[in-house]
Amino acid sequence: MTFTVNSYAALSKDAELVPYTLERRDLAKDDVLIDITYTGICHSDLHKAHNDWGTAIYPVIPGHEIVGVVSAIGDSVTKVKLGDCVAVGCNVDSCLECASCKANEEIFCLKGVTQTYGGPDPRFPGHITAGGYSEKIVVRDHFVLQVPKELQTAELLPGVAPVLCAGITMYTPLREHNAAKGQKIGIVGLGGLGHMGVKLAVAIGAEVVVISRNHKKDDKAKELGASGVIASTSKEELAKHAGTFDLIIDTIPFDHDVNVYVPLLKNHKTLVIVGHVGAFKTSPLSTTGLIFGDRRIAGSCIGGIKGTQDLLDFCAEHKIVSDNIVIDMKEVNEAWKVVGETASRYVIDIAKYRESNKA
Ligand SMILES: [Zn+2]
Ligand SMILES: [Zn+2]
Repeated sequence: MTFTVNSYAALSKDAELVPYTLERRDLAKDDVLIDITYTGICHSDLHKAHNDWGTAIYPVIPGHEIVGVVSAIGDSVTKVKLGDCVAVGCNVDSCLECASCKANEEIFCLKGVTQTYGGPDPRFPGHITAGGYSEKIVVRDHFVLQVPKELQTAELLPGVAPVLCAGITMYTPLREHNAAKGQKIGIVGLGGLGHMGVKLAVAIGAEVVVISRNHKKDDKAKELGASGVIASTSKEELAKHAGTFDLIIDTIPFDHDVNVYVPLLKNHKTLVIVGHVGAFKTSPLSTTGLIFGDRRIAGSCIGGIKGTQDLLDFCAEHKIVSDNIVIDMKEVNEAWKVVGETASRYVIDIAKYRESNKA
């Protein structure tokens, strides 16, 4: 059985998002129904809808940075109760039994993780998942996160949504590579991901330096707590900081030259890439900076459910949320045209959208 909810969908690769009546599956015994309050706009939404990765199944209803309120639960659900303020990130199901799932890395489930939108849903054959650009979503209880009380204020709640993708994408490599107080940490790119990375690394107690093409975002970087900005186009500035970083996280989501960042690291330290670029084409990887200094390049992909809950709790403790611009659902196509240009996140007011559909 299914029920219908209002949503916005991409119907083909070049089309704008349009209103779409979406059929959602009824709740299984371990499912949670969430009335969505806010959904963040992630760069992945555009990639998927435009079929940049060749994996789109239309209609695509994007959105994997979701906060909302529990409005129904299946018979066996104990993790949340009606009225709880909850959140959902990039994944909504996995086997929960394999080595990856048992290691709290559902995202690397050996049987394949179920993406929040635009992917098959193996437990429900034939069903394709649909994301948070919609009034309501049905999610398996394990994948529903608690929004801590401290973050449930009218002021902070919209900025919680981007924590679920942008936030955890930055928090996982900070933890995995033992970011700590007193270290010097570089964040490459100051968009949605980068600005969360600066906030989180500053809260950990690190000295944070933004690495950007130019100095246009210096004021914003400092406002976020960074100690300075290196222009990656300036040989002098790069030379001045050579061999001084304990960790660098590169958020650039398109083809670029990573070779300029490697020599900035101390010996044995790591550059972590979190932007899904595919192959670097214009500037092939050089081994020089890696070998002479035993430096490393690593990748990192979002994070697991436990890590995401830990992050939400960390954000509550430090009062960290995304800087955001709240928009109406009907403004979504305009927002998509400028995603990535600002050091903040666009967040769709879904509660308002749901109310407008009732009128
Ligand atoms: Zn995302
Ligand atoms: Zn698994």
